[in-house]
Amino acid sequence: MVADKCSMGKEHAELIAGKTQDKYSMGVDIGSTASKCLILKNGKETVGSAVINSGTGTSGPGRAVSAALEMAGLSMEDISCITATGYGRNTFEDADYIISELSAHAIGAHALFPEARTVIDIGGQDAKAIRVNEQGKLENFVMNDKCAAGTGRFLDVMARVLELKVSELESCDAKAESAVRISSTCTVFAESEVISQLAKNVDINCLVRGIHDSVAVRTASLARRLGVEEPVVMSGGVAQNGGVVRALERELGVSITVSPISQLGGAFGAAIHGWKKIS
Ligand code: ADP
Repeated sequence: MVADKCSMGKEHAELIAGKTQDKYSMGVDIGSTASKCLILKNGKETVGSAVINSGTGTSGPGRAVSAALEMAGLSMEDISCITATGYGRNTFEDADYIISELSAHAIGAHALFPEARTVIDIGGQDAKAIRVNEQGKLENFVMNDKCAAGTGRFLDVMARVLELKVSELESCDAKAESAVRISSTCTVFAESEVISQLAKNVDINCLVRGIHDSVAVRTASLARRLGVEEPVVMSGGVAQNGGVVRALERELGVSITVSPISQLGGAFGAAIHGWKKIS
């Protein structure tokens, strides 16, 4: 008997047509500063990912999705489930599911480091400390989304004043022999302070160390409000800056683990969330 394609499930038909039963879930993290997209194959293998340095309200999300699809050699029709997260998550019309970035970073960090109990996420416009339990469930969190100090924005502003890229801050910090203390807690005043230090011809590397220390002091006080339970993992874009990570380790007196895909941590968590819904 010849099988009628209409009466079979789509997957069955694809199997007969020689296609695989691979399933793809996509996580889209629309941040304030950057748009991130990650595609998971069968809930395990990352086959495509992209970070575009434009956030919500821009072409960034669409470009991140296109770039991740291109990297994976897939089209939108191949994606079984799309989960959006991040500051601009509600603007993404193609989403099957929407989850908060707190949940997304908790899920992502737990999948990468199941032992993690505290997740510190510093993004472009906010910073969060998240408590995760043994099952990877978010138990508690504290957040700073009121003040640019202690966020990626602070580092972006300082890097611009120093005529550096944010990606260059870590290597400057590594060369510093000491730190020039930044006493202002407000980003605008701290920027003026950095400019006045530059006028005094201070060593730029030491200035960068001081800037990192300033972010670490802010982040540590946030994390202490939650209570720092080890192991501690850092995710988000700023975790790529080893200078900030080391400064935070000194400030908290703990060791901090960072994934090489830290900036994609939220998109990864969102893709896992979607995968759980379809598997
Ligand atoms: P959001 O989700 O709020 O858009 P992200 O988690 O994507 O934020 O982080 C954005 C921040 O990450 C930027 O403000 C910048 O300071 C920092 N960042 C981005 N790329 C790098 C890099 N290569 N090295 C160091 N820091 C970086």
